[in-house]
Amino acid sequence: MENTSRIIGEYTSGKFGPLLFITAGVHGNEPSGVQAIMRVFKALNSCKAKINGRIVGVIGNTNALNKNVRYIDEDLNRTWTEDNISLKNVHTSEQIEMHEIIKILQQYPEADYTKRYFMDCHTTSSDSLPYVSVQLVNDNNKWAHNFPTYIVQGFSDIVYGAIDHYFSRIGITGFTFEAGQHTSKTSVENHEGMIWLALKEACELDLNILPNYPSCVEKFAETNAPDQKTFKIIYRHGLEAEDQFKMVPGFKNFQKIYKGDLLAFKNESEIKSEWDAHIFMPLYQSQGNDGFFVIEKVN
Ligand SMILES: [Zn+2]
Repeated sequence: MENTSRIIGEYTSGKFGPLLFITAGVHGNEPSGVQAIMRVFKALNSCKAKINGRIVGVIGNTNALNKNVRYIDEDLNRTWTEDNISLKNVHTSEQIEMHEIIKILQQYPEADYTKRYFMDCHTTSSDSLPYVSVQLVNDNNKWAHNFPTYIVQGFSDIVYGAIDHYFSRIGITGFTFEAGQHTSKTSVENHEGMIWLALKEACELDLNILPNYPSCVEKFAETNAPDQKTFKIIYRHGLEAEDQFKMVPGFKNFQKIYKGDLLAFKNESEIKSEWDAHIFMPLYQSQGNDGFFVIEKVN
């Protein structure tokens, strides 16, 4: 993606209601959410659909997105700490991007809306079924359960400084949505499907009035409504910059693992599973601070 500006679009029918604040490209190597937001605005504008409130689509890391890299100086999904925000730190490219996003959000204050929602759009390095990552504060979890997809709890509690952590801290309801593999076409469709569903749930958009009922919604709802929906993170395998880490090939998100399974190599020693549980976010790219996570079912 080249020369994309911060605000991808915004849309309202002039009717009082909620704010739906969608962010995408917080990681610059994840253009899928940006493409999906563009499609949604194009469709909304062409059929002049009626919604309550307003939807705004915003790019996270513009600099990194234009260069097609995950980040320039540091991960923009780790910069949203209380200190960085209150001290107005602008030491890195990502801290500057962060303060620009905060400024934009300030143009849509709580008092102007019945409620404010966010969705932060991401993709994963390895092929994955889509899932929502939700922080268990406010009414995030209840809101997340309106969507037909896996729900993973506790990511923001382990990894500090994520953007959804910030949104939740200032009282906005929402979650992070991981749509699939970075470059997969399905990821764009899944992002688009989720945004349409969020417009339906939050802004009472009647999806049937769209000229072509978004097929991505049907596809998404059909293929991604699992029986066991909700998981929580029980372990994070963190990495230091100097660690040599190699995940054993072939692990898929949500795959069952058993005690004793060989999971990865770190600095040439074997890492074996201590759990009968599920693997989550196995690292198959060069940049990253998380080797893998382990999740278990929540009933
Ligand atoms: Zn991401």
